[in-house]
Amino acid sequence: MHMKSLPEAIASIPTVVLKAAQTLNTAGFEAYLVGGCVRDVLRETKPKDWDLTTNATPEQIQGLFPHTFYENKFGTVGVVNDEESDETLKTIEITTYRTESAYSDSRRPDEVTFSQNIEEDLKRRDFTINAIALDPIKGHAVDPHKGQIDLVAGLVRAVGEGSERFQEDALRMLRAVRIATQLGFVIEEGTLQAITENKELLGKISKERIRDEFVKILMTEHPRAGFELCLKSGILPYVGPDLERGIGVDQNQAHSFDVFQHNLRTLQHAADKNWSMEVRLASLMHDISKPETRRWSAEKKDWTFHGHEVVGARVTKKFLEFLHFPNKTIDKVTSLVRWHMFFSDPEKITLSAIRRIVRNIGEDNIWDLMNLRVCDRIGTGRPKENPYRFRKYKSMVEEVLRDPISVGMLAIDGSDLMKELAIAPGPRIGHMLHALLEEVLNDPALNTKENLLETAKNLNNLTDEELKKRGESGKDKKEELESENIEEIRKKYGVS
Ligand code: ATP
Ligand code: MG
Repeated sequence: MHMKSLPEAIASIPTVVLKAAQTLNTAGFEAYLVGGCVRDVLRETKPKDWDLTTNATPEQIQGLFPHTFYENKFGTVGVVNDEESDETLKTIEITTYRTESAYSDSRRPDEVTFSQNIEEDLKRRDFTINAIALDPIKGHAVDPHKGQIDLVAGLVRAVGEGSERFQEDALRMLRAVRIATQLGFVIEEGTLQAITENKELLGKISKERIRDEFVKILMTEHPRAGFELCLKSGILPYVGPDLERGIGVDQNQAHSFDVFQHNLRTLQHAADKNWSMEVRLASLMHDISKPETRRWSAEKKDWTFHGHEVVGARVTKKFLEFLHFPNKTIDKVTSLVRWHMFFSDPEKITLSAIRRIVRNIGEDNIWDLMNLRVCDRIGTGRPKENPYRFRKYKSMVEEVLRDPISVGMLAIDGSDLMKELAIAPGPRIGHMLHALLEEVLNDPALNTKENLLETAKNLNNLTDEELKKRGESGKDKKEELESENIEEIRKKYGVS
């Protein structure tokens, strides 16, 4: 991996960050950049936040900066830079050196002890690449665990004895997979083995902490590699207990992969397209219940999976609830899984069948459902993500979604006409409305109750025959514009 030299890396650090370090130094305290931002500056990527660590206590830090907040008991003070426009610089987190001693439950230290010593602080950090301290003012690194070497080699290696560290905090095992996935790194062999040996401890970790790492893996560029690493290291059951059941479950002849591989490939395409977390979750989960719904059809001489989307929606809901996802996410993803089998042959489907699909999934989710279908196709091993027939189908969806041109668009209706102009119910009302529609289509500014009533008064002087003609002319105009609109939509999708 290409790395910047130390002076180059330091030259890329923003002024507000340097200023914060300088403020601490001037007051007689040490200040080091540490964690993700050091990794990122050395690797020439832009850090998404800036973390400093210091021997000043939280109280002392708060005394040195005008605008701070201090909200947890772990010694982290947020320093707010009000005038900064760059999101990543709006707050800089400054944390007092810590040592972590007693862990009784593989979850979190029983207590946090502050320390005066940077080496001690680095020792309690999870991986060597996260345990490099960079003094941005003096321009030197403190790197007792040789993190810079692992950074060049692309290795995620536990600080100290892997097993011990994972027994202190089991979440670190999942963090190892997440960080390796994000960076495209490999987990060092001894560390990987320690994960395999301690994997059960992940069962004790709060579901919220697991979910946050799970989402980070999902949102990387290579989530497929991430979940394969979960499988390889043995932690997959503690992350996604339902995913594993698809391993080795063959599908029908349309598919080139087993269910597990197919789910991962579907997810990977969602990541390649940079689609949302919900589409990624649905992609990962959409065929989750194929294993339990698989039946052999003697007639077809192939496997069938009837109802897998119905069972799958239930399993997806349970899975997302288990990881404490918010209800809004659960509802959307479950619904995408439930309806992912929609029939899409444009030669055989009617617009009203498409209307039903839109009603089932909801207008807000219909395009995500289309995207899920794209991922599903690619995940199956088909070469084309957007063939003619699918584009045709999408143009029909858009046709169904658009507001049709009709007298319903007018600022008045039939009963207004009857009331205000004292017209008896009958065909004159319909003709008049269509005549008004033509006027409004020619000049949309006319569409107010006042204007329309005025025009209607004049129309009311026409004979039945004359008014009927005007009404029919309005209908023709409407149909002409309707087909122009549909033409537009088809052009957009390149179909006829
Ligand atoms: P990101 O780019 O995702 O922010 P990061 O490395 O900054 O990556 P954070 O979760 O922000 O990750 O943690 C900041 C630093 O705190 C880490 O680099 C690591 O040194 C330390 N750290 C975080 N979580 C743990 C943990 N569970 N055990 C030990 N050290 C940890
Ligand atoms: Mg961070």
